[in-house]
Amino acid sequence: MKKIILKAGKEKSLLRRHPWVYSGAIDRVAGYPSNGDTVPIYTSQGAFLAHAAYHSQAPIAARVWSWQQDERIDDAFFYRKLTQAIALRKDLGVSQQSTGFRLVHGESDGLPGLVVDRYDRVLVIQIGSMGVERWRETLLDILKALCDPICIYERSDTEVRELEGLTKRTGALWGELPHDLTIKEYGLHFAVDVAHGQKTGFYLDQRDNRAKIRTLAKDKEVLNCFCYSGGFSVYANQGGAKSILSVDSSGNALALAQRNFALNGLDVDSLQWQCADVFQMLRKLRDQNRQFDLIILDPPKFAPTAAFAAKAARGYKDINLLGFKLLRPGGILATYSCSSGISNDLFQKIVAGAALDAGVSAHIIDQQMAAPDHPILLSFPEGAYLKGLLLRVADENCAMTIIAGK
Ligand code: SAH
Repeated sequence: MKKIILKAGKEKSLLRRHPWVYSGAIDRVAGYPSNGDTVPIYTSQGAFLAHAAYHSQAPIAARVWSWQQDERIDDAFFYRKLTQAIALRKDLGVSQQSTGFRLVHGESDGLPGLVVDRYDRVLVIQIGSMGVERWRETLLDILKALCDPICIYERSDTEVRELEGLTKRTGALWGELPHDLTIKEYGLHFAVDVAHGQKTGFYLDQRDNRAKIRTLAKDKEVLNCFCYSGGFSVYANQGGAKSILSVDSSGNALALAQRNFALNGLDVDSLQWQCADVFQMLRKLRDQNRQFDLIILDPPKFAPTAAFAAKAARGYKDINLLGFKLLRPGGILATYSCSSGISNDLFQKIVAGAALDAGVSAHIIDQQMAAPDHPILLSFPEGAYLKGLLLRVADENCAMTIIAGK
């Protein structure tokens, strides 16, 4: 019989219902399972722990499907899991906020390695594990039956596939991708480039944080760094911003941003955009003595895992320090990290260090995370990858700095 037996003492994380087993925790594997096979896992004492997808070469050697010994991992299992994931989004009412939202968020929905995003009637799937790869056809059939899509598009092109020995794969799997795919989010329109855009085409996770910016932008001079398709800028404009400078190093991203400005009929006189490296741009703005009332820093993932945390911390410190320096007294910094390798605590410490070095004092006025269609399983803290701090710089900073400067 195929089975995985763990080393003594290595069952602790599974007993806490964390769904990953690292290869180093395994004592032996019986029955010669192939990669992607579903295999039961036992303690060294022979107690059942979970059913999981096995991978002999990947660092994560098993990813749990179920904690119940009598549960069969078959078509009906995946039907139940996808139905539950869809029902959760229904309960949350996300479809009233946006026609684009995440339907399946991997481990957090009990489906390790699977992401499904919905953009109107287009579904985008992203497969990051051998276990899910094995059930790809089944999952497609169930998604067709449950969601009635006009297109299912695959964007399995993340780096993690390499660790699983999977090659990248993209393209329409069912139906045809509409040319001008757009979604409506909190009343605003956004073009989504499913085939070539970043992630699956749009940063759905920042939905509620973008909406918050709309409430803060009135009469403000705004700097939106790492703007991608201009999401925060569109909201800031809607909220009555006086001016908005959007910066990204990708020309494609800025082209999408301009499309989104046009789609929402924005006041173009208040808009500027720059194709530039943010690290350099912030220095240039500092040297020009530019000042802003609201700055958004939403950089890409600097630390995919904790191993990159030290280098990432330097990057976060740098941009946040410069951000603080560019803010007027009473100004607001909306700063984010989407690095799984940087905890909430560490991020707050880095930002606090940046404020100190910039000579400003600031209050946290909101702590933010990904929108609730990206739920976080309590037993899988890695799911809390996106963290945000909304900070208001104290009014007296400017006076302090000037006096100190004299
Ligand atoms: N705030 C966006 C998402 C930002 S994603 C939204 O709400 O949709 C991060 C963006 O940073 C990407 O668009 C990427 O092109 C850009 N980027 C990465 N490194 C950069 C750099 N050094 N300078 C400027 N932009 C960068």
